[in-house]
Amino acid sequence: MSREVLVIHGGAGRYRQSLQEERKEIEKTLRGALEDGFKALKSGSSLDAVEEAVKAMEASGILNAGKGAALNLLGEQERDASVMFGKNLSFGAVASVKYTWNAVTLARRVMERTDHVFLVGSGADKLAEILGLDPAGKPSNRLQERYVELIKMVGEKDYELWRKNFEVAKHFFSDTVGAVAIDKEGNLSAATSTGGLWLKLPGRVGDTPLPGAGVYAENGVVAVSATGIGELIARYLASVKVAFKVKSGLIVEKAVEEVVGEITQLFGQENSIGLIALDSHGRIGLATNCEVFIRGFISTEKGPMIALLANEELAGAYKS
Ligand code: ASP
Repeated sequence: MSREVLVIHGGAGRYRQSLQEERKEIEKTLRGALEDGFKALKSGSSLDAVEEAVKAMEASGILNAGKGAALNLLGEQERDASVMFGKNLSFGAVASVKYTWNAVTLARRVMERTDHVFLVGSGADKLAEILGLDPAGKPSNRLQERYVELIKMVGEKDYELWRKNFEVAKHFFSDTVGAVAIDKEGNLSAATSTGGLWLKLPGRVGDTPLPGAGVYAENGVVAVSATGIGELIARYLASVKVAFKVKSGLIVEKAVEEVVGEITQLFGQENSIGLIALDSHGRIGLATNCEVFIRGFISTEKGPMIALLANEELAGAYKS
């Protein structure tokens, strides 16, 4: 019998003024996600737990996923999500989803109801429609106002931005969501969901739906969910790098720290990554090079606990 643990994140990135105004709403969302996820963990599997926790965060509209997905250059929402079950390395992912806000459930459907692992764009939208997933609706006023502000800030709204998008990303915040869990059978699962980078080019896909990049889970080793600048995380395959390190004997706390350090050094960029991870003993690894790292955890013995700033301790969570 393993101890049951659920760890979630609501993104890592630069500090922003609006975090203070949104703090209460974000904390409420995290508590709700931990509650939903832990209930699913108790009655089902770690896969149910990560899906429910991520779904709750997608539904909140306050984080960059699902209803709250960032707007691309043309002011549209395109969502990426993935889910992985460590028992048999089952994997499902979707990218550039417009039809439904509930991208994580769609990713799970791809994993369980099709012979494929990854659907994109209109194909993913069609499956969501056929399966009766909840339609997305229009982006909220809050998101549309933010879009107008950001477009004003970068001063252009056309494809000229394609060379500047990386520059733009350095200044923006994140808020992608993810979860890792272990159930009493010892099964590890991970899920990640995002609207991607603000003002991304239409069709741009980041690390979130790529196995080994934004998500990874393997029983007996580790479950990982990443957030940050997708282009860097994907190039470094950050999540599977954590798994390699744990496999070679490093403790999970150290493994995530090393990967964050390596990314920072290799690409010379702070505020670029946050990682949550859980090993097969239910030990937690949390690491970031960002100012903000929204995260929370709950286990059979402890929690729920929540922290928003990187330097805020998630008291007790690190120790088993
Ligand atoms: N990693 C996500 C992406 O690049 C963004 C994020 O984590 O905020 O699509």
